[in-house]
Amino acid sequence: MGFVVPRWQDSGVDNEQLGLFAPPRRLFTCTPSKLGSYEDCPRRYRFSYVDRPAPPKGPPWAHNSLGASVHTALRSWYGLPADRRATAALPTLLKATWVREGYRDEEQEREVFRRALGWLESYVDGLDPDEEPLGVERTVAARTETLALSGRVDRIDQRGDELVIVDYKTGRTGPGPDDARGSRALALYAIAAERVFRKRCRRVELHHLPTGTVAAHEHTDQSLERHLRRAEETAADIVAAESAITAGTPPDEAFPVAAGPWCSWCDYRKSCPTGQQAEVKDPWTAVDRPSQVDTR
Ligand code: SF4
Repeated sequence: MGFVVPRWQDSGVDNEQLGLFAPPRRLFTCTPSKLGSYEDCPRRYRFSYVDRPAPPKGPPWAHNSLGASVHTALRSWYGLPADRRATAALPTLLKATWVREGYRDEEQEREVFRRALGWLESYVDGLDPDEEPLGVERTVAARTETLALSGRVDRIDQRGDELVIVDYKTGRTGPGPDDARGSRALALYAIAAERVFRKRCRRVELHHLPTGTVAAHEHTDQSLERHLRRAEETAADIVAAESAITAGTPPDEAFPVAAGPWCSWCDYRKSCPTGQQAEVKDPWTAVDRPSQVDTR
């Protein structure tokens, strides 16, 4: 049986260049999060990417502020010279880019700040400050016959001759190996990182800061290919839904709802008649009782 070169490891020549006299193929430009938004709920995708002006979003969520703050602090930590990468640097780093939105009051915000600092201190304690990642919050991109994919990866490590995709998580519930295996975003990042750095990338890891656990998965060519195929199928569904609207199909029909407990956490709940039936959550609920969060 011959070795099949995965589609994202092709010659590097853009597909458009190959068909010199063919009309240029229009690629669907997307990030994993854009595709995931449609897979979670087509209506939410429409609100985010199709309707203009977009419907107003609800207020900012404290759990998003917390996640963003922790991610930025880790980026800043890697931005320091290796000899200054110590836990003592963390309070200043976290404070400098702390996002204040969504908290109930200052008392809650202070408590969550201390919690985040504790996570960061434990996490950084297990890192080798001299180990330089290949990329931190690095944007990677790849093209297939139908997709122009890009996305920003929390961290790309090089271990031996291979790359590893690292994604930080800050929710209460620690992810498991199935989450790492099933994550379309991580698989697409692996594909794009391999394409950008021209190094094999099969391992993806979810680093859960609250518990200090790592959920990992080793992809195969076949499993990455499956994720890529599903991404292309999702893109095809989106293009078909947008064409249907152009052809006169009512937007609510072209982009149907996929309702569930996650509606309570949807930014567009107030603009969505289905979502309005979901339980109302305060912007700070998830940092108070994170175990109840199902934001999809
Ligand atoms: S509230 Fe629920 S059904 Fe409505 S757009 Fe958001 S996720 Fe979809």
